[in-house]
Amino acid sequence: MKIGAISLGCDKNRVDTEHLLGFAVQAGHEIVNTLDEAEIVVVNTCAFLQSAVKESIETIFEARSHQNVKYLIVAGCLPMRYIKELTAEDGLREADAFLDKGAYDRIGEVIERLTKGEKPVLTAEGEYAPSNKRVITTPYHYAYLKIADGCDNHCTFCAIPGIRGAYKSRSIESLIKETQELIAQGIKEVILVAQDVTRYGSDLFGKSSLLALLKELVKLPVEKIRLLYCYPDQCSNELIDFIDAEPKMAKYIDMPMQHAADSVLKRMNRHDTEASLKERVAYIRSKASNIAIRSTFMVGFPQETQEEFDALCRFLQEVKPDHAGFFAYSREEGTPAARMKGQIPERVKKERLRKVIEVQSRTAEQRAESMIGQVVDVIYDGIDYDRQCFYGHTDRNAPEVDPKVYFHAKEQVEIGETYPVRIEKTVKLDLYGQTVENEE
Ligand code: SF4
Repeated sequence: MKIGAISLGCDKNRVDTEHLLGFAVQAGHEIVNTLDEAEIVVVNTCAFLQSAVKESIETIFEARSHQNVKYLIVAGCLPMRYIKELTAEDGLREADAFLDKGAYDRIGEVIERLTKGEKPVLTAEGEYAPSNKRVITTPYHYAYLKIADGCDNHCTFCAIPGIRGAYKSRSIESLIKETQELIAQGIKEVILVAQDVTRYGSDLFGKSSLLALLKELVKLPVEKIRLLYCYPDQCSNELIDFIDAEPKMAKYIDMPMQHAADSVLKRMNRHDTEASLKERVAYIRSKASNIAIRSTFMVGFPQETQEEFDALCRFLQEVKPDHAGFFAYSREEGTPAARMKGQIPERVKKERLRKVIEVQSRTAEQRAESMIGQVVDVIYDGIDYDRQCFYGHTDRNAPEVDPKVYFHAKEQVEIGETYPVRIEKTVKLDLYGQTVENEE
């Protein structure tokens, strides 16, 4: 049958979708690019925040409206969080089947049962074994590698441990094998993801073994390895030294810090303090290779006072992360923070979000402007038809999440290749330039 898919939420979910499609191919089905061609649609949902739940439901309704769609399969976090409600008498009628991520390798069986008139609900514990026919949905030259799932950190605002379960690492052998398969498909940059990549191996070997994994991966003929989602207290000196010294490691650390006031970090059940975060940033910045720091922060956590919020703003002005994302706290049922007294009114959260983005924008704009006149190596990712130019990312900017480099080139350029680009101007945080001769 012809299968279309929509992947919502994070890049971990995208990896799951790619494996799920791989299992569908293994079962003899065909993957199509548009929902109008699809007989079956899989919506791999996100349910991390209430806004994501809403988006998932809206997407399911929209997918159902395509006229050729015979069956709709709802997979991922939404059924993993709300299976009782979805399958109740007054549940989600638009779905013909529900599938936990642990059962993605049984997509062939689900389709067979659908065609026999059944409405299968597969709620499996644990992880699927990866498909060797993974269908890559990113541009041809980079792909995400999910090294673990679940989380043991139990930040008080986060629903993930309740949805995805305890931290579970994949074996080093299976990750090497999957990386080899990605390289054979032409992938040059492998981006390691997990809810927390720095705990990799703690469940298998009794201690974090991310460095051991990286040392194996850099032996493979991959050009670049990038890390997303590093927990600050696990960003050891050894890990930072390795990123600094190893040519195959992107000079980039994504280290969600969430807040800077000690009292808020404590209520969040984070393991850091303002001093420990500053110390980690200082160590990263002391390295010669100019490692970029990306982080995420949350405002409006229960009981957040004006003084605590001001402490976060001061921290941002001092630490100046290269890239940062900001969120207003979302009260997620079942989490400890949702039960806390002193919930912050939406109006105040919105205002604090606006303010904190303004603080970071000033830093990021100054940083972007300081790039004018510099030549940077840009990995060509694709064509922007609206802007009528090429775009790409650099070692210090991750594809999809960070600002892009837009450029014109006199010579022929090939996707996935790296070109020296002289930066001529900035628009908001994006950089614009022209390729230059290599010898310049
Ligand atoms: S580290 Fe905290 S925020 Fe991140 S997934 Fe785990 S519990 Fe959630």
